[in-house]
Amino acid sequence: MGQAFRSHTCGELRASHVGERVMLSGWVHRRRDHGHLAFFDLRDRYGITQVVTNAHEAAEAHVAAEPVRNEWVVQVEGAVRHRPPGTINAELATGEIEVAVDAFTVLNASKVPPFYVNEEQPGLDESLRLTYRYLDLRRPPLQGRMLLRAHLASAVRRRLEAAAFVEVETPTLIRSTPEGARDFVVPSRVQPGKFYALPQSPQQLKQLLMVAGYDRYYQLARAYRDEDLRGDRQLEHTQIDIEMSFVAAEDVMATVEEMVTAVSREVLPDRPIMQTPFPRLTYEEAMSRYGSDKPDLRFGMELVDLGEAVGDVDFRIFSEALAGDGAVYAIRAPGCGNYSRRQLDELIDLAQRHGAKGLIHVSVQADGSLHGPLAKFLSLTQTQEILEATAGEAGDLLLAVADPDRLVAAGALGRLRLEMGQRLDLRDASTLAYVWVYPFPMFKWDGDLGRWDATHNPFSAPLWDEEAAMEADPGAVHAQQYDLALNGWELGGGSIRIHRRDLLERAFALMGHSVDGMRDQFGALLDSLEYGAPPHGGIAIGLDRWSALLADQDNIREVMAFPKTQSGSDLMMGAPSPITPEQLAELSLRVVDQDRERS
Ligand code: ASP
Repeated sequence: MGQAFRSHTCGELRASHVGERVMLSGWVHRRRDHGHLAFFDLRDRYGITQVVTNAHEAAEAHVAAEPVRNEWVVQVEGAVRHRPPGTINAELATGEIEVAVDAFTVLNASKVPPFYVNEEQPGLDESLRLTYRYLDLRRPPLQGRMLLRAHLASAVRRRLEAAAFVEVETPTLIRSTPEGARDFVVPSRVQPGKFYALPQSPQQLKQLLMVAGYDRYYQLARAYRDEDLRGDRQLEHTQIDIEMSFVAAEDVMATVEEMVTAVSREVLPDRPIMQTPFPRLTYEEAMSRYGSDKPDLRFGMELVDLGEAVGDVDFRIFSEALAGDGAVYAIRAPGCGNYSRRQLDELIDLAQRHGAKGLIHVSVQADGSLHGPLAKFLSLTQTQEILEATAGEAGDLLLAVADPDRLVAAGALGRLRLEMGQRLDLRDASTLAYVWVYPFPMFKWDGDLGRWDATHNPFSAPLWDEEAAMEADPGAVHAQQYDLALNGWELGGGSIRIHRRDLLERAFALMGHSVDGMRDQFGALLDSLEYGAPPHGGIAIGLDRWSALLADQDNIREVMAFPKTQSGSDLMMGAPSPITPEQLAELSLRVVDQDRERS
């Protein structure tokens, strides 16, 4: 440590230092006065040390400390001594000692902060925290999370470098590369009317690096997506971006799994990984068993397909759902048979908000009969079959969603599954349940546009043995696309890419791109495929989401130093902000509709 201000940090001193003269600098975490003694908890990011001024032993220091309040920055000198018996603080790493101060210097005063820095303040106004983010970042919980994030990033780098990955920085002023969100654009001054896009991901660039022979690339890359903010989304995020050559999907998944496992164990040795190798589900399995393509595997409560059990029930909602390709799915909520009308209404509302037309609920009675709106439509055998299929027991609540679109039924019930998992406290908070979902359907039909669209990345390759069928039945083709989920969040995703130009052109043509349109948007990538592009694939893992999950947070703001609000504002710096007429003129820009400018 620099000797001008300190000989040690505030987290460093132990009983073995007793008798030494030391110098500490830090923030006053708390002050307590006892007659001629004043106790200060001095804090820096390494810890807290108790320092004491004594009016009888060092009057000058005691007087100098007189005006000092919380969050003032001070420097003290003195001798380390044992704390008196009975005052040892086992919770504190430095809790056996204190510093008897003989010189006290105020380095800087502090106004009374707008919130407590030294205490948790549940319910503290988020906008206050964001406006004074530098004070929020000073608080030990947030500081702890920032350190965890730094540890995570450093562990990732070390593991990847040990596995021969090369870090390459790609530019952030690029041409648009689509990831399904809106671009942020930056006007060019020297080429009026033209714009750069901020990368939604370095996708095309990392593929070009594979063509260039870099073999194993990684970057902790910033990605920008102009989309609505949510708990797991900000306008910009950091991704652990990876691309590899001469690999099949299995190779990428194995490499990533090894890194993820090692890093989790290094950063949080106490948190068990639910299963290694990570379980694997196809997209179809994930949807039909968990109603989600990012399933939370910390608890069971799997969806049950009731198609067979209720196939001949004379109930319009069921017959409509089952007439075509639809489904009736159910889950069993153990012990919830006594849910009140209000509780049931909440569940119905939740199901409807997630796309279900309605929610069918029945409770299992002590005599094995079912109670609820559906019951009167059921024969004894049908009741029996439902109970068998769901393993329903007396006291349980059975929830079902029927829909002519089986994904809609599964998706809505999947949300209810999460809700019930939370209400019934079925999720072990410490477990890390990583799961791969692979493969995914390659295309989905976009009814609005009247064409097929990539479900993920337009550069993803089909399963090689399905390639020939691409045009004949696009909806049935799968992409070599893998997603990694953790505790119900999508942690990352990637794919094996198309490395042959003819195939990429075929895929793009299915998605309605003309050859000219493709040239215009993806010219370099298309051309590069004709200059010896190796087979390649990769993945991107969200560093913010991973940090949040490891830090037990449900909003990525809690692991970002300077995040934005829900409406995309930086309250501390005041962004976004208008620019001056001169700047606009220089950029050949005019704001056409002032009313639409958001404040
Ligand atoms: N570019 C993709 C994304 O950002 C990840 C990948 O396919 O490597 O989601």
